[in-house]
Amino acid sequence: MKFPVLLPNIFNHPFTYESDLKLKTGDYVVVPFGKNKVSGVIWDDFEQDNKKKFKIKRILKKLEVPALKKDTIKFLNWFAQYNLIPKGLALKLTLLSNHAIEKVTDDKYKDFLTKIKDNLVELSLEQKQSLKMMNKNNDQFKVHVLQGTTGSGKTLVYFEALKNIINKGYQALILLPEIGLTTQFEQKFLEFFGFNPAVWHSGITKKKKEIIWSGVIKGEIKVVIGARSSLFLPFKNLKLIIVDEEHDQSYKQDEGIIYNARDMAVARASFENIPINLITAVPSIETFDNIKKKKYSVSKLRKRYQNASLPNYEIVNLKDTKLEKKSWLSKYIIEKTNIHLKKNDQVLFFLNRRGFSPHVLCDKCFKNYNCPNCSINLVYHKRKNILLCHYCGFKSSMDKKCTKEGNCNFIFNGPGVERILEEVKKHFPSKKIEIFSSDTMNKKDSSEKLKKIINNEIQILIGTQLISKGFHFPNLNCIIVVDIDLSLQGHDLRAAEKNLQLYHQLSGRAGRTGKPATVYFQTYEDNIKMISDITNDDPDIFLERELNIRKKNNLPPFERFISLIFTGVNDRALEKEATYFKNFIEGKIKAKILGPVSSPIFKIKGKFRVRLLIRGPKSLKLQNSISKLIQKYKFSKGIKLTVDVDPINFN
Ligand SMILES: [Zn+2]
Ligand SMILES: [Zn+2]
Repeated sequence: MKFPVLLPNIFNHPFTYESDLKLKTGDYVVVPFGKNKVSGVIWDDFEQDNKKKFKIKRILKKLEVPALKKDTIKFLNWFAQYNLIPKGLALKLTLLSNHAIEKVTDDKYKDFLTKIKDNLVELSLEQKQSLKMMNKNNDQFKVHVLQGTTGSGKTLVYFEALKNIINKGYQALILLPEIGLTTQFEQKFLEFFGFNPAVWHSGITKKKKEIIWSGVIKGEIKVVIGARSSLFLPFKNLKLIIVDEEHDQSYKQDEGIIYNARDMAVARASFENIPINLITAVPSIETFDNIKKKKYSVSKLRKRYQNASLPNYEIVNLKDTKLEKKSWLSKYIIEKTNIHLKKNDQVLFFLNRRGFSPHVLCDKCFKNYNCPNCSINLVYHKRKNILLCHYCGFKSSMDKKCTKEGNCNFIFNGPGVERILEEVKKHFPSKKIEIFSSDTMNKKDSSEKLKKIINNEIQILIGTQLISKGFHFPNLNCIIVVDIDLSLQGHDLRAAEKNLQLYHQLSGRAGRTGKPATVYFQTYEDNIKMISDITNDDPDIFLERELNIRKKNNLPPFERFISLIFTGVNDRALEKEATYFKNFIEGKIKAKILGPVSSPIFKIKGKFRVRLLIRGPKSLKLQNSISKLIQKYKFSKGIKLTVDVDPINFN
């Protein structure tokens, strides 16, 4: 008999093989492909319009693992179509490698043994009502949004919902945006449930991946906590998906296989006919739109857990209180910091800029130090004493021969967190101070550091946006935003939303255990409307207004955006190619094509980038017609096309 076998490679169609074995859709098999043996899956349909005359090869063997579910296959087919990704690459996300795993023995799963301990967590009335809504009609597809203010105990509500699912012997998946720092979350999980979840992200070992993969496919592992890629695990009995911090833009995978894990999670839930819960303090505009259209149900937690109050806000106008030269903190702020420290409050200085200074130049030859591979400034990192590119990782020493004479004499423009650290140290020499950024926290000792922060052994933190992500620091009662810069960059339609989310999440770190807390905004801005949006208890007012702006201008979610990004080493050829391609598809798709334009960051990693933007109706037909045209078009050598459906990043 003939079988269609999809392989985890760049092809968009299954290959035809023969076998006398009894095989069904979803079975894992090993087949010869070229000179290699690869694992694949019996797919649900043969290749369409296959006119090639190849000798049909035989399937080598069937793997002894449970078959991939038909619903999951349907989801992968749709996923490939929606994101313009070859089906083979969609399968690759589900398969662990080129070889599926057979050999894992059951005792390996005992670390994740599911025996729920009894716990006595008393939920508030609001929490109980939310839980009731989550549990209602949860034997079928539905999207529920749990919108709760920061520190309101959203996790407890969905843990209870999860308990319900696990007790029935089913599986559940919790997606988190920043998986590098899950220690605190795992701890919370263990305390509540009494067993360890399986944690899945790109950083875990291959061996661990194999154990989790096979535990998931056999239904032995009940709960997976994971980053984006965990969405593609071949669950046997998945009955609930949770997307925590659903508004977080790091759900968008920007490189390689480009997709939005939150949106794809909703799609998977729909194909598998199971419930999904989106958890957030402030919903994304897309989610808010779906709530308004009543596609998603919503429940709200307005009170903070154990009645802690939200922080107070104060704006410090830097036009009134002049800063001293090479200083970024006003006298007023230093006084306030002192008062908080005396009360034993932890203090956070927030500045979303890593390193010491974002802009370096020589005062003799006036050379600006830019990355040779990317069209952006190099950032000075004082701890390492290097210039670093935040895009490609290019490093260079500070030893620069000047074209005038001797070595360059550097001027550092503006501060990064390292520079703020120096200033804070001068004012508070006896305090323990730490930088909280991806440079200092994504390391092995980060859980040790987290412990110290929680125990208030570190009194002052200097943090980038990493610190805004879901942490619970019980003593943090004072946040100082060093320079709130709300300039709305013209090319980013989500700038206002991004700002609101960032500062809302950041403020939410303060005052979580009931002591009074204050967030100070130092700013040169006269327009404080944005700050009043951030500090408003009811984020729906902002969302409502923002949604109206999007509607008026026909921006997403009211229209579909698809970015086509051309990259190559020859900038002129690139412009030409983009124009040819535009002419080629113009009139053949039902959409507007804008561009070509150079990307705001024209060069990254040595490659130039030119973009087209397609604006069209929200229908899969648009993707299908673009996909067909791309296949027909002959691209010039050295030019690569990347497709980004529903783009978030316009760099
Ligand atoms: Zn670079
Ligand atoms: Zn110089």
